[in-house]
Amino acid sequence: MSQPTLGIIGGGQLGMMLAQAARTLNINTIALDPNPSCPASHVCDIITANYDDPQALDELAAKSDTVTYEFENVPVDSAHHVMRTTPVRPGPLALETAQDRLNERTMFAHLDIPAPPMRPIDSLDSLRIAVQDLGTPCLLKARRLGYDGKGQALIDNPASIDLAWQTIGEVPAILDAFVPFSRELSIIATRATDGSVVTYPLNHNIHRAGILRVTKAPARDVPDPVYNQAKTAATKILNHLDYVGTIAVEFFQVGAGANAQLIANEIAPRVHNTGHWTIEGTPCSQFENHVRAVMNLPLVDPTPAKPSAMINIIGHHPRPGALESLTNAHLHDYHKAERPNRKLAHITLTADTQPDLDARLEHCNRIVG
Ligand code: AMP
Repeated sequence: MSQPTLGIIGGGQLGMMLAQAARTLNINTIALDPNPSCPASHVCDIITANYDDPQALDELAAKSDTVTYEFENVPVDSAHHVMRTTPVRPGPLALETAQDRLNERTMFAHLDIPAPPMRPIDSLDSLRIAVQDLGTPCLLKARRLGYDGKGQALIDNPASIDLAWQTIGEVPAILDAFVPFSRELSIIATRATDGSVVTYPLNHNIHRAGILRVTKAPARDVPDPVYNQAKTAATKILNHLDYVGTIAVEFFQVGAGANAQLIANEIAPRVHNTGHWTIEGTPCSQFENHVRAVMNLPLVDPTPAKPSAMINIIGHHPRPGALESLTNAHLHDYHKAERPNRKLAHITLTADTQPDLDARLEHCNRIVG
């Protein structure tokens, strides 16, 4: 029997790590990306074309048993185009929902998942009224194409309304009340074609300037009720979207102890940066379970998890030899050139105990800045 093939729309680092996971399952991969030397080109074949090129999509579909994607801004029409001949997992409803913050929040409301107080914005006038309603500070977020803090503007007093509207490009948006969170958490979960779901432990995520810097997992000092809130929300979303594959749901934690509550911010219908540690930290990574799900294979329980931390390498590569003094450290290089704010690689640290992990995380942070 010939080797099954998974097609991936997008050949960035997530596509690269999906292809690496597929290889361990004896599954071939091919990725569609406009850049012939994208990160995935180091581990799989590339069809070099734009994401909406019908001929390239036909070629990808013809060569693949299933097609998946590694970023949420894949044109929905491209997914429909491929679906004429080849299954696309997760399906286009997940894309339509995640590409538009208003759709996402409407889904949270429909599923009774707590989210920040929010108003839809379609003009400067509607923004003025919404700021009066929600008060300051509040955050204006473009409905579409925002990531890593882009397409967002903080409004800390009514005088900054006009500038915020200009900053996001005067496009349809949502206005979020500012959530005074104690920390940011996420959960990674995978759903199979038979509807079974596995969930990973909670991630504690540290951002700076809107970009993820460090994830610590399993998140500590998080009471069980909070984990159950995350698991319940993720499972509701997966079932609602009839989702197949790995998803990430991002939350703010407010309150503490028995009063801790999770407020859902957004979903990512794909493998996620906050789940990279699962490669070394769990028995089955988010990438492997994604490949298993979309290729119609049984999922693997990803527990128990080892105390783990993931450090993003952003802008500059570590100097040669810099990591030699780190033990149980795994560098994943995305084969990218240096550029400000660009994610170039990540390091996963694992440990037997939390104090050991903490000490080495501090050491690692000193090395990579
Ligand atoms: P997002 O693009 O929605 O993930 O937002 C980027 C970052 O902005 C988040 O990781 C938070 O640190 C912050 N942020 C987003 N929405 C809110 C909110 N409603 N209240 C407070 N901080 C927020």
